[in-house]
Amino acid sequence: MNERAREVLCAVPLGHPIVMKRDLMDILCCPVHKGDLTLSVKQENDVEIMEGDLFCAQCDFHYPIEGGIPNLLPPEMHEKRTA
Ligand SMILES: [Zn+2]
Repeated sequence: MNERAREVLCAVPLGHPIVMKRDLMDILCCPVHKGDLTLSVKQENDVEIMEGDLFCAQCDFHYPIEGGIPNLLPPEMHEKRTA
């Protein structure tokens, strides 16, 4: 995956739904650091990852994947959403 594609995907507006496929690991990045994320899968089918998380070591935060959608809101926004 080239850098241009990574920039484009990282520029997707927060909250815009993206179906989580393994191919996306090449271009998904931390919303804070734009760094690489580590995928851990709890449930997947032939097409997409349904449940799991994306871990950023710099944030020390696990971004959840729920219903096939990666939630890449920054950590502080997750706290507000769940409050
Ligand atoms: Zn991060």
